[in-house]
Amino acid sequence: MSKIILTGDRPTGRLHLGHYVGSLKRRVELQNSGEFDKIFIMIADAQALTDNADNPEKVRQNIIEVALDYLSAGLDPEKSDIFIQSQIPQLTELTFYYMNLVTVSRLQRNPTVKNEILMRNFEASIPVGFFTYPISQASDITAFKATTVPVGEDQEPMIEQAREIVRKFNSVYGDTLVEPNILLPDNKACLRLPGTDGKAKMSKSLGNCIYLSDTEAEVKRKVMSMYTDPEHIRVEDPGKIEGNCVFIYLDAFSTKEDFEEFLPDYANLDELKEHYKRGGLGDVKVKKFLIRVLNRQLEPIRQKRHMYEKDIPGVYDILQKGTKAAYEVAQQTLEEVKAAMKINYFDDKELIKIQSEKYKSID
Ligand code: ATP
Ligand code: MG
Repeated sequence: MSKIILTGDRPTGRLHLGHYVGSLKRRVELQNSGEFDKIFIMIADAQALTDNADNPEKVRQNIIEVALDYLSAGLDPEKSDIFIQSQIPQLTELTFYYMNLVTVSRLQRNPTVKNEILMRNFEASIPVGFFTYPISQASDITAFKATTVPVGEDQEPMIEQAREIVRKFNSVYGDTLVEPNILLPDNKACLRLPGTDGKAKMSKSLGNCIYLSDTEAEVKRKVMSMYTDPEHIRVEDPGKIEGNCVFIYLDAFSTKEDFEEFLPDYANLDELKEHYKRGGLGDVKVKKFLIRVLNRQLEPIRQKRHMYEKDIPGVYDILQKGTKAAYEVAQQTLEEVKAAMKINYFDDKELIKIQSEKYKSID
């Protein structure tokens, strides 16, 4: 069986460090591993509209931002098809058929949707499109027969729901769709990177992000005001590591080389953590180290972004080509789905023949 990746992001803002460690970095590694037959990367504008219906301009403006972030982080249009969701109507059509295979109570139980509804203060006014976006996500995944979906932990319930839809579809209509597997980050700190304010998730909607395109000065400012251990007041106080953003970010980003080059007094992160816990290590010193660690990873991404920013029409060409390739694959799957559901009347010679014979015999 082919190995196929599908994953993506909502164009609701520039991409941040959570996106990077949760999924984007992994995608680039998988892309360059050469182990996959096809890689589809989707800019989920239709999904973004489910909670931004009154602000289409925001979504429209952010498509290029996400595309620039992708290319500058190392997605290569020669190896990955980057496409725009709304330009592939087959995805909407699949969603409509899958809706019949999912109950309202099953959607209501989806913990990520529950949480996002709370976060957005929808209360009773939940847009139907938003409520059903896990079904549309199942369409995105299955349209490309994706086997592998590299995403952050918040997406686990979505992939589970997609797997259920595949099983249900295949049992009702015959083997047609492929069950996807989630691919979570190996590093625990990357499963759900917290925001700079210490909140559970770095998220565009919460305004607690460090963006891939932030300048060195912005990274510095954000790290210096980052949430640490509120009880670690004087340098000599013992400090807490749990829930301390600075250490979580170091878990997610720091490498052996960073210690050798920027902090040679410590062999590794464990030693630094031990010192902090004992007391005698100030936040400022650790923060300064984190700034260097982050900037070392972000600098090449920034450089590449500046290069692509000079050729915006070229970036749209990349998106158009990727969208065309994705369209063809989605069309093929939709035809298979409709044949399995027997809603392919004009192609079904057998149906026409049987019905003609039925009426002939009446004569
Ligand atoms: P929004 O607030 O608009 O929902 P978001 O910041 O949650 O935006 P998405 O576009 O919903 O971002 O997420 C895209 C991908 O990035 C998903 O795979 C998601 O799991 C991953 N991701 C987003 N935020 C984080 C995070 N803080 N840690 C790890 N992965 C993340
Ligand atoms: Mg999200």
